[in-house]
Amino acid sequence: MVNKIIALVFCSFLSVAIICSAPAGAEEVGKMTENIHWFGHDTFKITGEKVIFTDPFKLKKRDTADIILITHEHYDHCSSDDIKKIQGTATVIVAPSDCASKLSGNVKKVKPGDKLTVNGIDIEVVPAYNTNKQFHTKDRNWVGYIFTVNGQRIYIAGDTDHIPEMKTLGKIDIALLPVSGTYVMTAEEAVQAALDINPKVAIPMHYNSIVGTEKDASRFAEGLKGKVEVKILQEE
Ligand SMILES: [Zn+2]
Repeated sequence: MVNKIIALVFCSFLSVAIICSAPAGAEEVGKMTENIHWFGHDTFKITGEKVIFTDPFKLKKRDTADIILITHEHYDHCSSDDIKKIQGTATVIVAPSDCASKLSGNVKKVKPGDKLTVNGIDIEVVPAYNTNKQFHTKDRNWVGYIFTVNGQRIYIAGDTDHIPEMKTLGKIDIALLPVSGTYVMTAEEAVQAALDINPKVAIPMHYNSIVGTEKDASRFAEGLKGKVEVKILQEE
């Protein structure tokens, strides 16, 4: 009898341990990403404590952002027309200095390595650059961001290749990674990047707009099967 009880307790402990250590399932991934809306290219609206937009481009409707994160000065990321569509009187824009100088309002200039808190949201500024092409050279000091929403650390990589710094980002819950190739990582390079970052969920971006297609997103998901959960968002 005692043996049976011990076995029972051990088994239930074991099953809990297995559940706890299991990779994020579809349901958990759905929950983790339900506040993340993709508007194409690198444009995300992330809701939670605050409304955060990243690299607004070709926005279909007006909105009011609390925070706008801009990764670099290229027109498809630092688009002042699109920024105006979501910029209210209290909106804080975070951008590298060459983009910031094109914008007005409350703009915070940042460079890789900076850490700041905006409207109660912790933001880390991380490097983003090319290693095998010249569109985004390291000396431009362009960036990606890690920010915490609803207790989840979200990383948006910006226009980047697979760079060594990706190994040192710390715990990442959700990684938003470019997959199109040409100006940024290919899907295959993004798979290697995701393995370095090891997020709970990876979301492909930077396709279907300027360069790249859904095939790049599928190849990215295929390459990470059984290793990192991938969620391909529907463009809203
Ligand atoms: Zn770019």
